[in-house]
Amino acid sequence: MTKYNCKKLVFSSSATVYGNPASLPIKEDFPLSTTNPYGSTKLFIEYILKDLYKSDPTWSIAILRYFNPIGAHSSYLLGEDPNGIPNNLMPYIVKVAMKELDHLNVFGNDYDTKDGTGVRDYIHVVDLARGHIKAIEKIMKTNQIDCYNLGTGHGYSVLEIVNTFEKINNVKIPYQIVERRSGDIAECYADPLYAKQELNFTCTKTLEDMVRDSYQYIVHHKK
Ligand code: UDP
Repeated sequence: MTKYNCKKLVFSSSATVYGNPASLPIKEDFPLSTTNPYGSTKLFIEYILKDLYKSDPTWSIAILRYFNPIGAHSSYLLGEDPNGIPNNLMPYIVKVAMKELDHLNVFGNDYDTKDGTGVRDYIHVVDLARGHIKAIEKIMKTNQIDCYNLGTGHGYSVLEIVNTFEKINNVKIPYQIVERRSGDIAECYADPLYAKQELNFTCTKTLEDMVRDSYQYIVHHKK
């Protein structure tokens, strides 16, 4: 970057840097901590970028804290098809829908949430991509470092995701409740206001769009 005198950077961070938030929705100025090693790598890099900016304020850096990206481009040319057994909820559900896996394990139904299962803020990958364009537009005209939540502001439980997936895609997703997964938190959703004010960014896609596109990408991909 030095060679090309490039001092503009967008960093893909994660909502996991908020750790187990004391309240919801999560705002960008909430305290930062982590509950897993993945989160620690994101948080360390945020600190490195903040130090970099302190040492040279001619940089302009946007730190984007992604909530839970799912979905695929509606052309179904770009999407997610992980090898092996997925760790994340949506690719796992898709493999169950395709009968590559037999059932979904729901990690706990005794959380303090609407139905006891974990609640997350799922964002369509196309909205996420639009958020990056807005962030680039911002850093092209400013010299600052700032953090932005990229989420919809809505929290959906694991069972709401399963039910919506079944309804929209007309498939059955058998599931069983198992132990909580270590490092998971009960509930996580964004306050999307700062990204709206500063980046003029808002999400346009619904949960129905997300579950349809996640599934249809694989259906098209496997043809
Ligand atoms: N989850 C689940 N079964 C799975 C994968 C995930 O019940 O096979 C739950 C997980 O406990 C969390 C939510 O689904 O409440 C989203 O998990 P994911 O791994 O997709 O994202 P995270 O928020 O953990 O980064």
